[in-house]
Amino acid sequence: MTKKIIAGNWKQNGTLKSSVRLTKSIISALDKKRCKHEIIIFPPSIYFLPIQDLITKKKIKLGSQNVSAYANGAFTGEISATMLRDLKVNYCLVGHSERRHVINETESILSHKVTRLLENNINIVYCIGETLKEYKAKKTKIILRQQIQRFIKSNENNLRIKPKRIILAYEPVWAIGTGLVPTIYELNKIFSFIRATLNKLDNRYSSIKILYGGSVTPDNASKLMETNHMDGLLIGGSSLISKKFIDICSTI
Ligand code: PEP
Repeated sequence: MTKKIIAGNWKQNGTLKSSVRLTKSIISALDKKRCKHEIIIFPPSIYFLPIQDLITKKKIKLGSQNVSAYANGAFTGEISATMLRDLKVNYCLVGHSERRHVINETESILSHKVTRLLENNINIVYCIGETLKEYKAKKTKIILRQQIQRFIKSNENNLRIKPKRIILAYEPVWAIGTGLVPTIYELNKIFSFIRATLNKLDNRYSSIKILYGGSVTPDNASKLMETNHMDGLLIGGSSLISKKFIDICSTI
């Protein structure tokens, strides 16, 4: 199998001790097991420094779960893209369903975040996906087309110059943390649709990688990875347990 991206989103979980322990056990398992994939972890940002110390010179890349939409200034509690760059953060999530639907981030906010990250040469994992209501109403393709077009159009010039900085993550909202996953038949259709939508916008976007996220476990990971056009996995719950995360990394 070609090199894939396996990303773990730890969300707002853990403590300093447990985050360091999780990082160490991922490192030691990877050292033993030979994993050819690109591994990205998205820990809580307050633990970046000790984690960055551990993963330097290892194959693991560091990602941020969030970034400020503003370059700098009076935005209490926010962390800027420049600050992320300072800490050698390689990736940042934008548009995760929890930020869209729980924190109520709008497309305009997402677009500003994308701009800030591109200005600082930080790679973006941009999440898209339909809600359960939209899925049941068979609106998946309409929603995905809208989300992709808004994302690309709002930063068209920057993205044309830096398409390699972009990864899309298809995460159906109804599959996140629920144990539900689309069938391989559905995923094949959706991934072909996403790839075709990107190609139609500009053939330079053919380098954009596409991940799947939503209730990935060691039991379903290799089957999911058979999906055409899928370049890797974005994993929430299973990335918090080192054995599960490593099993996923080493079984596919
Ligand atoms: C996520 O939140 O990005 C995610 C995919 O979560 P889970 O794997 O727990 O469904």
